[in-house]
Amino acid sequence: MTVNNPKAVMVIFGATGDLANRKLFPSIYRLYRNKKISDNFAVIGVARRPLTNEDFRNNVKKSIEDFDDPHIDKDEFASHFHYNPFDIQDLTHYQGLEKRITELDEKHQTDGNRLFYFSMAPNFFGTLADNLKSQGLTQTEGWTRLVIEKPFGHDYESAKKLNDQIRSAFTEDQIYRIDHYLGKEMVQNIEVMRFANALFEPLWNNKYISNIQITSSEVLGVEERGRYYDGAGALKDMVQNHMLQMLALIAMEPPIKLTPEEIRSEKVKVLRALRVFEENEVDEYVVRGQYDKGIIDGEEVNSYREGTGVDEDSNTETYVAAKLMIDNFRWSGVPFYIRTGKRMKQKSTEIVVEFKDLPINLYYGNEEDKKPNLLVIHIQPYEGITLHMNAKKGDANATSTPVALTYDNSTDKMNTPEAYETLIYDCMRGDSTNFTHWNEVALSWKFVDVIANVWNNKKAEFPNYESGSNGPKAADELLLNDGYSWWDVSPKE
Ligand code: NAP
Repeated sequence: MTVNNPKAVMVIFGATGDLANRKLFPSIYRLYRNKKISDNFAVIGVARRPLTNEDFRNNVKKSIEDFDDPHIDKDEFASHFHYNPFDIQDLTHYQGLEKRITELDEKHQTDGNRLFYFSMAPNFFGTLADNLKSQGLTQTEGWTRLVIEKPFGHDYESAKKLNDQIRSAFTEDQIYRIDHYLGKEMVQNIEVMRFANALFEPLWNNKYISNIQITSSEVLGVEERGRYYDGAGALKDMVQNHMLQMLALIAMEPPIKLTPEEIRSEKVKVLRALRVFEENEVDEYVVRGQYDKGIIDGEEVNSYREGTGVDEDSNTETYVAAKLMIDNFRWSGVPFYIRTGKRMKQKSTEIVVEFKDLPINLYYGNEEDKKPNLLVIHIQPYEGITLHMNAKKGDANATSTPVALTYDNSTDKMNTPEAYETLIYDCMRGDSTNFTHWNEVALSWKFVDVIANVWNNKKAEFPNYESGSNGPKAADELLLNDGYSWWDVSPKE
């Protein structure tokens, strides 16, 4: 059961890190400002460096300096934050933390509720879960929940090992695996749009949809993350989690109820129906790329291999495009094209649903003028929905003109919660709908592992696309071979 105005002591492991400062503190602030969490909350920041409470609160205040809310006393907000120097590896530190949690629980009347947020390097996740359990921190009168950041393993085997370790300390329903795409307003809108409108459901299948395209492109390169990224790549960093999660939401059957269990069960069925390639099919269905130097915003930028922390002969992909097939009744024969890349021409995440043509269209002079209906879900940075249709527009002759019906969610940014804000709130309320279940993680890794194995064993001809371009040519051919092309329908800045 979910509760509003939840109360808890939140323990953030890795509280001096980038994610905590850039995303978590501002999200907690927005929840506080919007009165989503009651005054009964405390945050304990945990990391090794020896900060005082005052230093830590100053960091918190710095992280929210861009917010200008005259009615909010930022000092009062920061007074809920406490710092606890701590080394995860040192078992003697755990009793001190337990004492601190108990004191703050009493002070803030949080009913023994504990939220542990693992915001640190993934190699600590397993040890930390073990130690919290063995040192008794998971025993409490209230609820205990664990929020765990990505990446969850680097292949199926490592994910399973990590999961077994975490599951020996926490039950599955206590574990909230973050995929921050699932906290995005327009990703959450996929379900509402599909299941709250009579309009789309009858058409949402292989009889009326010709193909679906899911794009997540960035203009930035790997910047300072080279050392981490070179061991990961776009397949593991983006496809295994965010891209397959969006695919599952677009392709799932209507759940019988809007409970986390029912929704997950439908998403899992999509991932079970996702065709796992044979190794000899990978080149036919999947394209990898790595960016070369190029021009962005009029400035010359360097290639991936020239980046800090990157091997000068790196075989790591910064781009993936793939044609995915879902072998079930609804989707048999419909290609789902996905692509994600860095240093692309435009930053945009969006889903394009392309509908099949009419058997005869009386309004087209010739084939090339055909404009299929498209439903576009714009996820970021522009947020909205566009339905591309054909209509008569103005002039006297009888041909049709493409028109776009648009719902623009970007104008209401102030009231749109940030992904992390939504997810922290959901976790505090005990709603795990927008977190990934182990079954989803396991199936996604099994799908990705085949591709990763083939790529690890075969050196690519990198770099193969210019920075500031639309990615490698082979990604265009992937669609051209089926008679389609990538739609470029993002609003231009
Ligand atoms: P980060 O900046 O490197 O921070 C790591 C934190 O861990 C620091 O607070 C560090 O503080 C602490 N730490 C390291 N060793 C420790 C130990 N032995 N005991 C206690 N604390 C220790 O990492 P991040 O970028 O914030 O990322 C955190 C997690 O979020 C990672 O899993 C990452 O993959 C994930 N993530 C991050 C982002 C992002 O935008 N940053 C986005 C998505 C996911 P001390 O040095 O003071 O100990």
